[in-house]
Amino acid sequence: MAKSIKAGKPVEAATPRRKAPTDEPDRTDGLALQDDGVDAAGRPMPVFPDPPAIDRHGPAWVLAMCNQKGGVGKTTSTINLGAALAEWGRRVLLVDFDPQGALSVGLGVNPHDLDRTVYNVLIEHDVAVDDVLLKTNTPGMDLLPSNIDLSAAEIQLVNEVAREQVLATALAPVLPDYDIVLIDCQPSLGLLTVNALTAAAGVIIPLECEFFALRGVALLMQTIDKVRARLNPRLEVEGILATMFDPRTLHSREVLARVTEAFGDRVFHTVIGRTVRFPETTVVGEPITTYASSSAGARAYRELAKEVLAR
Ligand code: ADP
Ligand code: MG
Repeated sequence: MAKSIKAGKPVEAATPRRKAPTDEPDRTDGLALQDDGVDAAGRPMPVFPDPPAIDRHGPAWVLAMCNQKGGVGKTTSTINLGAALAEWGRRVLLVDFDPQGALSVGLGVNPHDLDRTVYNVLIEHDVAVDDVLLKTNTPGMDLLPSNIDLSAAEIQLVNEVAREQVLATALAPVLPDYDIVLIDCQPSLGLLTVNALTAAAGVIIPLECEFFALRGVALLMQTIDKVRARLNPRLEVEGILATMFDPRTLHSREVLARVTEAFGDRVFHTVIGRTVRFPETTVVGEPITTYASSSAGARAYRELAKEVLAR
């Protein structure tokens, strides 16, 4: 049975759980990111249907949130896409696959207090995902937490047989229990990320709308191609997600135009605006969908959830 995060020690910063949102206006609120039937890149905006209710769950669709660049919105997107999918009645498992443990912190868990994490699942053959799972405060969304211990796994797995398949093998028994598994990758293309790409059916690539966004994406695509050719033939790039978009700056719009020029239909119509609400959610340890439920950021991730389910 999964423990609940409430039962564990919350992170200190999370103590005043219902801290009021800052007085700073949400600058993307009221700004049309997708208006008049066109998306932020000027493409025709399809209407994504509300996902149908489901009464049976699984087997899970596994998606890796991947970009070897840090600070592009992987962890933020994992938490908030997960929470939005859970709002649509989907059973969601979030896998923290970064030794920094930012996903765990962002959901109110203090990673240093954990005896066992995803690390133990990978390395100790008698530890199962079910032994380590935590229930989050978002109904229907569970967390496989991580902490700095995971940084040792990269080296320890090198001599393991089928070292790229360790995560896939560990997740297999719980896939019938979930509709979606989101793996929050660390900012590198090392063995842990290759494990995530081997366990996944799809990749979502968050890209920050700033000048060097496209740097490194070619290398990421090559890595995905190699994993597909050698380890996981069903792996697909599900979509590229533009994050931290500021519709008022020409720069943001130019970067988005370049990204859609380069990747066409693979770029999600939904873009995530830049707003201070996201850093705030990390402090309180909860998704934006509950922290600022009607904010532009919450609405964007709900829209993304619909777009992902429509693919
Ligand atoms: P990654 O996991 O790729 O390293 P994070 O999701 O941790 O990136 O985001 C990096 C930082 O940017 C965090 O402080 C986060 O709160 C902030 N951030 C993420 N998305 C946005 C956004 N749309 N607008 C403003 N800040 C954001
Ligand atoms: Mg991260």
